[in-house]
Amino acid sequence: MKRSADVVIIGAGVTGAALAYELARRGIRDVLIFERKFPCSGASGRCGGGIRQQFTTPHNIRLAMESVNRYETLSEELGVDIEFIQGGYLILAETEEEREAQRKAVALQNELGLPSRLLTPREAKEVLPLLDETTIVSATYCPTDAHANPFRVVEGYLTRARDRGVVLEKFTEVVDLEVKEGRIVRVRTSRGDVAPGTVVNAAGAWSREIARMAGVELPNQPIRHEIAITEPVEFFMDVMVISIHNGIYFSQTKEGQIIGGIGDPEEKPGYNISSSLGFLRRYARELLRYVPALGQLSVLRQWAGLYDVTPDAQPVLGPTPGLENFIQANGYSGHGFMIAPAVARHLADYIEKGIVSEILEKLSLERFKEEIRGEAFVVG
Ligand SMILES: Cc1cc2nc3c(=O)[nH]c(=O)nc-3n(C[C@H](O)[C@H](O)[C@H](O)COP(=O)(O)OP(=O)(O)OC[C@H]3O[C@@H](n4cnc5c(N)ncnc54)[C@H](O)[C@@H]3O)c2cc1C
Repeated sequence: MKRSADVVIIGAGVTGAALAYELARRGIRDVLIFERKFPCSGASGRCGGGIRQQFTTPHNIRLAMESVNRYETLSEELGVDIEFIQGGYLILAETEEEREAQRKAVALQNELGLPSRLLTPREAKEVLPLLDETTIVSATYCPTDAHANPFRVVEGYLTRARDRGVVLEKFTEVVDLEVKEGRIVRVRTSRGDVAPGTVVNAAGAWSREIARMAGVELPNQPIRHEIAITEPVEFFMDVMVISIHNGIYFSQTKEGQIIGGIGDPEEKPGYNISSSLGFLRRYARELLRYVPALGQLSVLRQWAGLYDVTPDAQPVLGPTPGLENFIQANGYSGHGFMIAPAVARHLADYIEKGIVSEILEKLSLERFKEEIRGEAFVVG
């Protein structure tokens, strides 16, 4: 194993993979990724693959728009079909309060150039003909939102990064970080030690533990989210659907399977990723309320993964105060897949040129010292 590297990335999920590729593309090739298990073994290989831009704060909207811009040409750039389906996101609302929140969100999104629209229930049914429109009071729709296959995205990024010299060490756990005079001077792993230039904490729901190794306290908490996939049926929906009423999300994969899940507001923080019958019942009940025809499908498989959740449901990105070579890239809640390509660019700009973009400023760890204004629409 190498004994030093310009950049050490901890975690081979979509965040670590996208950043490694972005750095290598710019000529920073002495990059070493440590992955405790294998690529996609964390949240990235367990996620719903949704890519949306319909957020409620200007920086989140801009970051997501930048990301979609990258996703649109990623298959071509990586030479891997990432199964990108740009069928839009339909966001459902069931109360007047939710409709008002949607109206405000669309106004802000339109101001920033996003082509989202507020729809009546009947207009929503035109987007998704199988929708029972009597369940909703309104919906919003953005035709440039999308979904893709996370395994393909991570595989594509890692393959192209490794082509350019990036080294991926699988089944290699980071067990400690040695700090001296405001820098991480050694990364200790289960297979030996490395002297790093920069260290990136892209360990998903385990980022808090990684940060603690360097004496840094992150406010992140791991929260289980369950998800299920059905047998395939003829392709009938290119749109991804979410509800701000109950947090459900679902879409159809290129093979025709319906993949989706629903959060549980009662879920306690922890590393439990077992599956439950309670989830399946709740998910099926809510799914069938919106699209009764899906009741004919059988569930093939269910699983769970961990959201890495911060107090304002927004990521922690950029340099760590007091530890100049330690970069955070975590705390994504249910949004890490959709923004990974854009996050990689902002972090690579920092690593390559020392540029702290407005996004990195807004989403820095330091913000938790101040009053927190969170993202309102927290779904997939
Ligand atoms: C059910 C579910 C549905 C979701 N749906 C969506 C969605 O539709 N759209 C969206 O954008 N996001 C979604 N998300 C969120 C998204 O999956 C995550 O935000 C994203 O995958 C985070 O990627 P990551 O690379 O930062 O972390 P991860 O993919 O979790 O990768 C972190 C990696 O770090 C490794 N690691 C941990 N500790 C160590 C260590 N000590 N040493 C070495 N390696 C270590 C882990 O093994 C893991 O592979 C969903 C998440 C879940 C659970």
